[in-house]
Amino acid sequence: MIVILKPDAGEALVQDIIAQIEAIGLQAHLSKGQFRTVIGVVGEEGTIDKEHLLSIAGVEQVLPIMKPYKLASREFHKADSVVEIACPQSGTLKIGGGSCLMFAGPCACENEEMVHAIARQIKAAGAAVLRGGAYKPRTSPYSFQGHGEDALRWLRDAGRENNMPVITEVMDTRHVSIIEKYTDVFQIGARNMQNFNLLFEVGRTRKPVLLKRGMAASIQEWLMSAEYVLSQGNRQVILCERGIKTFETALRYTLDISAVPVVKANSHLPVIVDPSHASGVREFVPALAQAGMAAGADGIMVEVHDCPSKAMCDGPQALLPEQFADMVRTLERLVASLGRKFCSVNAMAPVPV
Ligand code: PEP
Ligand code: MN
Repeated sequence: MIVILKPDAGEALVQDIIAQIEAIGLQAHLSKGQFRTVIGVVGEEGTIDKEHLLSIAGVEQVLPIMKPYKLASREFHKADSVVEIACPQSGTLKIGGGSCLMFAGPCACENEEMVHAIARQIKAAGAAVLRGGAYKPRTSPYSFQGHGEDALRWLRDAGRENNMPVITEVMDTRHVSIIEKYTDVFQIGARNMQNFNLLFEVGRTRKPVLLKRGMAASIQEWLMSAEYVLSQGNRQVILCERGIKTFETALRYTLDISAVPVVKANSHLPVIVDPSHASGVREFVPALAQAGMAAGADGIMVEVHDCPSKAMCDGPQALLPEQFADMVRTLERLVASLGRKFCSVNAMAPVPV
């Protein structure tokens, strides 16, 4: 349910209404818009008594949220949500509401030098957030699984050196606290989109969460997964379309471009596109990135490697740093023509060395 407050409800009354909602065993999620203050009331299905909510002083209207996802829906929060990511040295990057972000880096952090070298190159080209895997979700248990905590350290240090926030995938609830210590954004991978305990666990932190769409998940299932994170009080959720399984076998997956406007219509959360995992082929990454941004995405995540033929995973889809720089220049022009803008650390004050 959405509880719409009377326009003159002051802060004390808002807090009192929240307390009354919580006293009857329901969760209250406050959303302050430009024109109205609403409280999203969630609880187990069938336990919300509309008449009772209406009887609380200061409440003007009580409306049902028709979608199965509540806090993720536009019905609850009309304006685009803006997720803020703090940079390690100074500044804050914003994604959503017209501000776009470029996430880039290697699939896996293979060694300290490569993470630093790639970070420097992608930052110079305009990337905002450095990605890199430390714990890799591999199809085979015999494939390289990632360098774990060493990789987290390399990633953090490269992020600090370049004033770039860092993102890495968390696959296991037991890794949430160590990943929280080293990085700025949690990535939930496609294979873990419905790992509900993991979603609850990152939802209990207050770090941004990038939630990838499962390769066989519907848009509704994806938004229900976002709801798991939001239900724990973490509002900082970014969605990522990374390709789904279809009958088409020409590429690794099929990038579902239509997911971008559909998600935007139904949810206030920022959504980005990952053309690297979607295609699996470097040659097609720039075109899919352009399509994603043209469709309204709030950013792109791509894999970059300085020697893709030697990459320990996902080499065929990795862009060379110079290809990445070319792609960014084209995307910047495209996005500017659409009235949006990439937010990057380069636009901020230089970092003292
Ligand atoms: C990745 O980003 O390296 C990754 C494994 O992505 P996905 O979960 O989309 O397959
Ligand atoms: Mn990868």
